[in-house]
Amino acid sequence: MKELKESYDVVVVGAGPGGSCAAYSSAKKGAKTLLIEKSQEIGEPVRCAEAIPFLEDFGIEPKEEFIRNKIVGGYLFSPSGYRIEIRQDKAQGYVVERKIFDKYLAIRAVKAGAKCSIKSTALRLERDGDEWIVVVEYLGDEYEVRSKIVIAADGVESNIAEYAGLKCKKKPLEVCSCAEFEMVNVKFINNEMMEFYFGNDIAPKGYAWIFPKGETANVGLGVRDKKKKAIDYLYEFLEYNLVKDRLDKATPIEFKVGGAPVSGPIEKTYTDGVLVVGDAAGQISPLTGGGIYLAMDCGFIAGEVAGEAIKNKNWSEEYLKVYEDRWKERHYNYLISHLKYRKILEKMDDEELDELAKTLGEKLDDIDLKKFIKKIIVKPKLLKYFKDLI
Ligand SMILES: Cc1cc2nc3c(=O)[nH]c(=O)nc-3n(C[C@H](O)[C@H](O)[C@H](O)COP(=O)(O)OP(=O)(O)OC[C@H]3O[C@@H](n4cnc5c(N)ncnc54)[C@H](O)[C@@H]3O)c2cc1C
Repeated sequence: MKELKESYDVVVVGAGPGGSCAAYSSAKKGAKTLLIEKSQEIGEPVRCAEAIPFLEDFGIEPKEEFIRNKIVGGYLFSPSGYRIEIRQDKAQGYVVERKIFDKYLAIRAVKAGAKCSIKSTALRLERDGDEWIVVVEYLGDEYEVRSKIVIAADGVESNIAEYAGLKCKKKPLEVCSCAEFEMVNVKFINNEMMEFYFGNDIAPKGYAWIFPKGETANVGLGVRDKKKKAIDYLYEFLEYNLVKDRLDKATPIEFKVGGAPVSGPIEKTYTDGVLVVGDAAGQISPLTGGGIYLAMDCGFIAGEVAGEAIKNKNWSEEYLKVYEDRWKERHYNYLISHLKYRKILEKMDDEELDELAKTLGEKLDDIDLKKFIKKIIVKPKLLKYFKDLI
């Protein structure tokens, strides 16, 4: 593999949305960039419900080749079936075919000038002066790829940045275990709305979902629980009284499993010649488990900073701190508030979740904190959970 025999300014480990966006912006800045992916096909295996917000922020056109469904909002269901309809800008977007979408992002990076090496697993990092050697396994052989900067975009099971002394490893209960069927013949309430189901029996410390995907639907859930596996909860969800009539003719055509790291961002996302991006950095909503947009945006920032560092001939820890400053400015408050809300929700029993749904009302155009507090203040049972927000 000739790509693995060269030296680079920037090596990106992992060609998920975070890695491909990092490789794109790094190459655009003129840095000699290599994107390494351990799978033999970028985008496989899919571990995702495939919902993303609008892509226009990234200059990406919503192309027919990867868009499967437009989304205009969502329904939230409490355990007893109280339904809240959400229609707001932030709830709009698409359900994509990630196998094609991820590949599209990698193609975009290569077209911008990055090289790509598939079926190539980064095994470890070794320091040599002010550069890194990325040890890569490809078809049974090991290669030493020299690079000034390494961007670790290796997802939830990330360990690459650990070799540079950063703490990326997640504890088992910090990761939401997910199981999902992509199914045919699902009857939708509305085929442009996502459905979310909450309840301690249905999906403890997580939720279940039905997302319309054109001809199919992603039906899945995420849990943090020691008693049963996610797949056992999923089989039960298919029989759940709020959905079973609409799923009785549904048949799976794909099974997906995976983990979503929901404990918030890692403490530090940069060090000498290393940046951490996406799920590896905990840049994923602790509340919803949505991480594609964040991985893309933070990846984009990381690639830009890496490219600038190469131009300025400075890839020291002090210089690369600007990456953390920039991504935190855009996303840190969002991540921390979602972490807070997740912790509140998971303390509630099913009765309280029902009460919360009733209090919020049937329609939510925007989550206005002031209005919400006015409603909650007269509900002492709920107030105890939200008093810190007041
Ligand atoms: C079941 C499930 C449903 C989800 N649904 C949604 C959703 O609907 N919307 C949403 O926004 N988010 C969703 N997410 C989260 C979303 O999938 C992630 O946040 C997103 O993929 C993160 O992108 P990433 O680039 O950081 O990591 P990943 O997409 O995980 O990419 C990491 C890449 O690195 C590669 N890699 C790992 N180690 C190495 C190595 N040593 N060498 C080379 N390559 C390596 C992997 O093969 C992989 O391709 C879901 C997650 C799960 C588990």
